[in-house]
Amino acid sequence: MVRLAVACAGTWAAALASRSSASVQAAPGPTPDIPQPQTPSHEAFIERAFEMRRRAVGAGDQSYGAIIVKENRVVGLGPSRVVTNGDPTAHAEMEAIRDAARRLGSRDLSGCVMYSTSRPCRMCEAAAYWANVSRLHHGQSGTDAGPPRYGGC
Ligand SMILES: [Zn+2]
Repeated sequence: MVRLAVACAGTWAAALASRSSASVQAAPGPTPDIPQPQTPSHEAFIERAFEMRRRAVGAGDQSYGAIIVKENRVVGLGPSRVVTNGDPTAHAEMEAIRDAARRLGSRDLSGCVMYSTSRPCRMCEAAAYWANVSRLHHGQSGTDAGPPRYGGC
């Protein structure tokens, strides 16, 4: 029993060590892996959100897409992954928020704007609120829904 505990502790320590070295390599910074629109614009960002929707549908998922934009750059991508990940919380908007936070290395998305193909549900709007997303746009015309509200609608 003691041997098992020691073995587990060693494995745990190795896992922690590899995790911490991985986080050092994934330093926050620019997002070269996200292709940017040639001309950043409201329309281009709406189109990118709908591209995420097509990506979700192509993967067999629900037809929702979202992106996060900061300073005219796409910093987070969110095709719906509810079906593909088997995760009822993996709405497009949640995926976009998670992706942007990971890429920016911050849970604070102040100054960011979210574009989504449909008006975010209460869960997603609350998540945007907690992430300090500044503004929400949704739909084919990019309707401005203002800043996210806690318990929105
Ligand atoms: Zn949602």
